[in-house]
Formats: sequence, structure tokens, C-alpha cells
Amino acid sequence: MVTMGAATCHSPARFAVSCSSNSSASAATGRPLRVAVVGGGPAGASAAEALASSGAQAFLVERSPAGAKPCGGAIPLCMVDEFAIPRELVDRRVTRMRVLSPSNLAADFSRALPPGAHIPMLRREVLDSFLRRRAADAGATLVPGLRGVLEVDAVVGADGANSRVAREVGAGDYTTAIAFQERIRLPDAAMGYYDDLAEMYVGGDVSPDFYGWVFPKCDHVAVGTGTVCAKPEIKRLQTAIRARAGPKIAGGQVIKVEAHPIPEHPRPRRVVGRVALVGDAAGYVTRCSGEGIYFAAKSGRLCGQAMAEEWARTGAVTEAGLKRGYLRRWDDEYLLMFRFLDLLQQVFYGGNAGREALVEMCADEYVQRRTFESYLYKRMVPGEPLGELRLLWRTVASMMRCGVLGREVERLRRVERQARELQLRV
Ligand SMILES: Cc1cc2nc3c(=O)[nH]c(=O)nc-3n(C[C@H](O)[C@H](O)[C@H](O)COP(=O)(O)OP(=O)(O)OC[C@H]3O[C@@H](n4cnc5c(N)ncnc54)[C@H](O)[C@@H]3O)c2cc1C
Repeated sequence: MVTMGAATCHSPARFAVSCSSNSSASAATGRPLRVAVVGGGPAGASAAEALASSGAQAFLVERSPAGAKPCGGAIPLCMVDEFAIPRELVDRRVTRMRVLSPSNLAADFSRALPPGAHIPMLRREVLDSFLRRRAADAGATLVPGLRGVLEVDAVVGADGANSRVAREVGAGDYTTAIAFQERIRLPDAAMGYYDDLAEMYVGGDVSPDFYGWVFPKCDHVAVGTGTVCAKPEIKRLQTAIRARAGPKIAGGQVIKVEAHPIPEHPRPRRVVGRVALVGDAAGYVTRCSGEGIYFAAKSGRLCGQAMAEEWARTGAVTEAGLKRGYLRRWDDEYLLMFRFLDLLQQVFYGGNAGREALVEMCADEYVQRRTFESYLYKRMVPGEPLGELRLLWRTVASMMRCGVLGREVERLRRVERQARELQLRV
């Protein structure tokens, strides 16, 4: 028996998963592929569903089925169709996305929204339990915390940003951001304001390297922020996002406070032996937007399909097969998109000048159309040559103009901070 690469994976729930060493012998018996999927979020549930639908025996191990992953819950519209998410699971349909600059200039992303298009907002506890149930309907066995040893042919590590599976197989580390969020129940009138509106706040006050958000849910708003470089300051940043949202969330009652790491980039190794990492465990979150639900579900499905296909073809699951069938396909599809979003983050989140420029550019209809296409439908389509040229020109012009404005905002915020400190001392 070999275990997950080098060692057996022991979770806090005291379970062990091990990969049997002799997969070719098992193929001769004609028995189905056996896979342990560790973690029942969108990545794990989608992997288990893909495996079970292909005739594999999938064991979906979730240690807290009643839990709720801290998350904004915004998904791209294409996920609803691609993953057949029932419409009634969607809490809110956001048709207005407002981006607010450090100086509180607002750009409304709604002009370029195609008719009927929206950003679906869900509660994760609702989405995840639905996806797990569907995996079970397809034939996966749900294991709420495993005891003893489960012997399998392959393992899918879908156990999130603190992945124990990744640690056990020596997949290497990644940098993480910390995201902090409060669920706030608002009075009816205030909730009405956020009926179909989501807000993103950028500025050094709410985050030096990310953004703050107010996302509407069924009966509350999720208000949060994230950062990589100022983790010890996260509570101060959260106070700042609440201050920026100010009167719009006044009178609200905090019903839940939650925080969780968000990976910044993929792990050095995403496949080790017959263990494959997917979703947050692999590091598939876009740095610019912190988006990971869709990529988790897609990577889980792709990985499950790759394992099942290789088993059907060769009677084995191998590292080389997983790299070909899962990693290469994933990288072909998404690597460029992730790199592009990394670049955007570096250009526009570096300081308040860049952020002012970002918001100014967001008012442009062409920018909105391109953003919606790539976010809602996950399409990186080549732009119109003239439109791209205009966009480049606008970017340079905005960066130059906002260099001045941004520096001024920094100066005013410094003065405001000093005044507050003086007041405190008095
Ligand atoms: C505050 C915040 C806001 C966010 N907002 C958004 C957003 O609006 N839109 C978006 O697309 N993304 C958002 N993200 C990112 C998104 O939440 C993740 O990318 C997504 O959840 C990844 O899914 P996953 O299945 O890979 O991992 P997870 O959702 O983390 O699921 C991992 C699962 O594994 C289980 N588990 C862990 N260890 C074990 C173990 N040893 N044994 C058994 N089970 C285990 C956990 O209980 C969990 O259910 C946000 C993240 C944070 C922190």
C-alpha cells in the first residue's frame, strides 16, 4: 500500500486515506476506480459528482457538513447553466455593481450589462449542501468525518486553503490573503437599497492591496475586506469599510463574523503521485477579485473527469496521466486569464492613484462590456482593435490624471489620521 505520495493523510477527524499501490492489478478485476475526495466545498462536490457519474466509487469526505464557508457568495452567471444551479438557490440577482474610489467617486457597472444578465449571489451553506447532495444522487458516498482507513486508487485534495492533503504530500506553500467579513442584517429600507446592488470599495484605508465589499444576501449584507500585506491590521481595515459604507448600513445588526485565508497563486505542485489538488487547495483564486467558487467547481470537475477517463482507458491513475488530463487542460484554459488579472491587480491596486484611475476607467462602456464578458461568461475574447487602442489611451490618461488626485487623497487621509490621533491624545 502506498499512501498519498509519501505519507498517510491524518485529519483532525482521525481518518486516514491511503492509495493502494497496485492499480494495474485492480484493472484486471474490472472493478471500478475508487477515489477519496477530501473536502466537500464546490471543488470536492464537483469532483465527486464527475467521478460518480463516470461510474467510479467516490467517497466525499466533509468534516463539517453543517458548516458555512466564509464567502461573499458571488458567482459568474455562466456557472448557473454549466453547473445546473437551480434558480431558487440564488438569493439576489445583482444588476448594478458600484465601484467606489478612495475619494468616493462612483462608477456604476450596469450600462453594458446584456438584457437578463446579472451576478447571482448565494449563501455558501446553501450552494455547498446542494452540490454535495447532487454528488450523492450521482452515486458518491458522503462521509461526514472518516474513521479507520479508506483504501483508494487516487485522492482528490479539495480541502481548501488550509489543505492538509497538500501538506501531507509536500505540495509546497503559497502566499495567502486574509479575508474578513461580517454578515449584517439591515433594517428593511436599508436592505431595499441593496436589493440588486453590490458595492466594491477601493482605497488604502479599506485595503492596501485588495478591496472592500458590501454584497447583498437573502436577509442581510456581507461586508468585508481582505489583505495580504497588512494581515495584523485586518480589524482596522474592516472598521474602515464599515465607515465608508457609513449611513447605508447604519442600524444594522451583526449576525456573524467570519474570516478565512484566500490563496494568492497556485501551489508549486498540484499533482503528486495519484493525489491531485483542486480549488483553493490548489490555489485557484484570482488575485484581483478574490474569485474562487467557479474555479473550484471547474477544477474539481476537470480533475474527476481526467481520473475517470484515464482509468477507463488504461486501468490506472498515474501522475503523468493527471498532469496531462487535468493540469495541462486547466492551464491551457485559465493560466492566461489568471496572469492577466494578476497584472491588473499590480497596476491598479498599488496605490490610491491607480485606484482612482481604475474607477474612472470603470465608467467607460467598453471597459464594462469587456469586464462583464470575462467575469460573467469567463471568456477572454480578443477585443475590437479600435476599442483596445482607445482603452490603452484612456488607461494612460487616467493614470496620469489620477496620479495627482490619488496623491491628494493620500495627503488628505494622512491629515485626517493625524487629526484623529491628536483628538485621541487630548
Ligand atoms: C471572506 C471571503 C469571501 C469570498 N468571496 C467570494 C465570492 O464572492 N466569490 C467567489 O467566487 N469566491 C469568493 N471567495 C473565495 C471562495 O470562497 C473559495 O475560492 C472557494 O470556497 C473554494 O472552494 P473549495 O471547494 O476549493 O474550498 P472550500 O470552499 O474552502 O471547501 C473546503 C471544504 O473542505 C472541508 N475540509 C477541510 N479540511 C478537511 C478535512 N481534513 N477533512 C474533511 N473535510 C475537510 C471544509 O470543511 C470545506 O467544506 C471568498 C473567500 C473568502 C474567505
